[in-house]
Amino acid sequence: LVHRMRPFGTTIFAEMSALAARTGAVNLGQGFPDTDGPAEMLAAAAEALHSGHNQYPPGPGIPALRQAVAEHQRRFWGLDYDPNGEVLVTAGATEAIAAAILALCEPGDEVICFEPYYDSYAASIALAGAVRRPVTLHPTAAGRYAFDPAALRAAFGPRTRLVLLNSPHNPTGKVFTRDELTLIAELCQEHDVYAVTDEVYEHLVFTDAATAHVPLATLPGMWERTLRISSAGKTFSCTGWKIGWASGPAALVSAVTRVKQFLTFVNGAPLQPAVAVALALPDDYYNGFRAGLQARRDQLSAGLTAAGFDVLNPEGTYFVTADITRLGGRDGVEFCRSLPERCGVVAVPTQVFYDDVTAGQRLVRFAFCKRPEVLDDAVARLSTMR
Ligand code: PMP
Ligand code: GLN
Repeated sequence: LVHRMRPFGTTIFAEMSALAARTGAVNLGQGFPDTDGPAEMLAAAAEALHSGHNQYPPGPGIPALRQAVAEHQRRFWGLDYDPNGEVLVTAGATEAIAAAILALCEPGDEVICFEPYYDSYAASIALAGAVRRPVTLHPTAAGRYAFDPAALRAAFGPRTRLVLLNSPHNPTGKVFTRDELTLIAELCQEHDVYAVTDEVYEHLVFTDAATAHVPLATLPGMWERTLRISSAGKTFSCTGWKIGWASGPAALVSAVTRVKQFLTFVNGAPLQPAVAVALALPDDYYNGFRAGLQARRDQLSAGLTAAGFDVLNPEGTYFVTADITRLGGRDGVEFCRSLPERCGVVAVPTQVFYDDVTAGQRLVRFAFCKRPEVLDDAVARLSTMR
């Protein structure tokens, strides 16, 4: 194995899902829903599968999906992308992120990201021979997560190539405010760097959040330098389909396409028309999806609080983070390894998403994208924890 990949073992999600399978624990670790997405989408996929959509689709994705992606961004965010040249279909957001970093970073270039960061970021940056420059999100007294503006400013330097921004943010559930985004935008322009935004949770911002979701590309001067990434997995509860997309100015999208050609070439032929159908679903679908998850967030947060955790209320995503100190926990990794035995529940230690291990040492993440009866079961188990 090459040196640059040696620090990366089995992903924490695979490790924790295997632990759940082995112990029979309720798996609130890896983030995947336990129900299927919209019936219209599933029917469209079955139809495509039986009507000859089983060979290589066009390189950038089928026209119907590229059009649906463009239309969706106009409808929800007022963003304009030409489906021909400014939209690329990818094998999930994961491939779009990897291809973007490989396309834009020379070895030694620096990528600024907020920690805790999604695990594939560090690996993709390493694959490119680039260097990550994390800026830490700290829990605040108000129960949110925030970064020190001076730390962000200090992270920029002559080798900075891009900022990789995830909002709504996994694992914290933070939704970056317009003020925070404005600072990021100003620094990107001052230092002439690109932004790559991971917005896979764009439709999961709860009604009591302090801020609505604001795509960075909507800020003045940012469309031109932002590659915006999202995917169907979260919004349509089909994480196994791996249909994602990247949108941005033609020069950026064409650079990413160059790399994607040689990673997977194309992907998901019969699933692409189905995701096009899903993207065009009426607002009722999106509102119902969000409301359902908000109710489950409240259900799990209340259960965690009753069990003795200090819950940091997420404003978005389908994850809740909690501090284990009041339960006598000192280290999230140890805590999560012993949790199945203590009470039959699996969670993920957020520590593994930080370079600054101490910053996340006492935080663990629970996924609430599960049926209410599963969350009830998990809460009942947690309440027996000793
Ligand atoms: N980014 C974030 C922040 C995620 O949480 C996930 C996945 N769960 C991904 C990217 C990957 O998305 P996909 O499954 O579409 O590759
Ligand atoms: N994004 C999912 C999570 O954060 C997991 C995806 C994966 O297993 N790679 O739980």
